Amino acid sequence: MSKLTVAKFGGTSVGDYPAMLRCANIIKNDTGNRVVVVSASAGVTNLLVRLSQANLSSSEQVSIINQVRDIQYNITQNLVNQAELNQEVDGILVELSEYAKLQSAEVSSKIADTILSFGEQLSSRIFAQVLKTVQVNAQYFDVRSVMQTNSSFGKAVVDTEKLKQNCHQLLVPLLTNQVVVTQGFIGKDYDNNTTTLGRGGSDYSAALLAEALNADNLAIWTDVVGIFTTDPRITDKARAINEISFGEAAEMATFGAKILHPATLIPAMRHNIPVFVGSSKEPNKGGTYIQKTVSSTPTYRSIALRREQTLVTVKSPAMLHASGFLAKVFNVLAKHQLSVDLITTSEISVAMTFDNPTGTTQALLNSTVVQELEKLCEVSVENGLSLIAVIGNKMQQKSGVGSCIFDTISGINVRMICHGASEHNLCFLVNEEQANLAVEQLHKAFFEQNVKPTELATAS
Ligand code: ASP
Ligand code: MG
Repeated sequence: MSKLTVAKFGGTSVGDYPAMLRCANIIKNDTGNRVVVVSASAGVTNLLVRLSQANLSSSEQVSIINQVRDIQYNITQNLVNQAELNQEVDGILVELSEYAKLQSAEVSSKIADTILSFGEQLSSRIFAQVLKTVQVNAQYFDVRSVMQTNSSFGKAVVDTEKLKQNCHQLLVPLLTNQVVVTQGFIGKDYDNNTTTLGRGGSDYSAALLAEALNADNLAIWTDVVGIFTTDPRITDKARAINEISFGEAAEMATFGAKILHPATLIPAMRHNIPVFVGSSKEPNKGGTYIQKTVSSTPTYRSIALRREQTLVTVKSPAMLHASGFLAKVFNVLAKHQLSVDLITTSEISVAMTFDNPTGTTQALLNSTVVQELEKLCEVSVENGLSLIAVIGNKMQQKSGVGSCIFDTISGINVRMICHGASEHNLCFLVNEEQANLAVEQLHKAFFEQNVKPTELATAS
């Protein structure tokens, strides 16, 4: 049998009919692609998030469901069995509206997850049909029969052992002579409730399936031709990276490069499965190969930017030569499930950063948590910061890396620096307003003028 590739298509890749057709041809052109994981069609999950909220009137619910229907009908109208498919879509939407009614009566995260799962349920059914129209023998498969999770709705944790067993029992036998089309993002808990793995989780689902199936490759098809040296919206000089190691790519995903769900590389690294990231719009343009060993390991590979960071500094003279103070601080944070990203310490103070994408972190940090911390120490909270991560190789072992970075952005105030814990990054905070400028200047030096640490170190 040919090698097995798990191919994942993101929301824009299955957002309309021309996009789905392009993806179908990608599958057709490589017989290795026998497991296809799809996201919901672009825009659908956002609509479902609205639908899962409390206090919607029934007319608001109907309007949201109609918008979902329009997105899907817009695709099915291009298919020969349109009527039959629309009937199927309608059946699914009737079920969806029942859950929406339940949710408006009493909000629950359990029902919210069921509601969110409908996007992938719809897109996978429709994509299986599109594959058939290009003569690919495709079969729809409900991933919930294998993707075993716990009951943490909204961020369910997958039982990878159970997933593997289930895949060998139920999925592997299907792969001999057909392409299986299934859903990203969703799973099922031990009580048979639908769960979700968190927003953007389809990449992660695909990686978990690749691991469970012992696949040879994982292909993530999206709307950009791979991973870039930095966000192309910041500088049009950003360019695609051909090849990058797991370690570097994992840092990029964690530090804000939006291209992959941060957890995606964990199963791939565990099982040493090479990951390809490419554009389903331009499959011939190549993409980025993420793998264990790469032919070049430059000091500077890319620059990631994560906005909306909160910096909390705690200060206590009692920390001087004392033990146990940090444990107390972290206990408070753990109790409120706040996850710390970067930390620097001095003898009597600790500075920590928190990612604040939804505002909930900030809300917590402004109230209860601060009050609890204030019982232990002085606390200050700063917002409006951006985290810049310069990513590369052996950065902690080369002289001149720090001076190279900070000389380049010498006009910009740097608020906090983290270096040394990882060989793959040097991170720091700057004010939100100066973040783009800092990235542009660094990109120019490292990727346009090709400045290397030794050059600057000797020049200065
Ligand atoms: N449809 C889900 C979302 O939009 C999962 C995904 O696309 O990865 O978050
Ligand atoms: Mg995505």
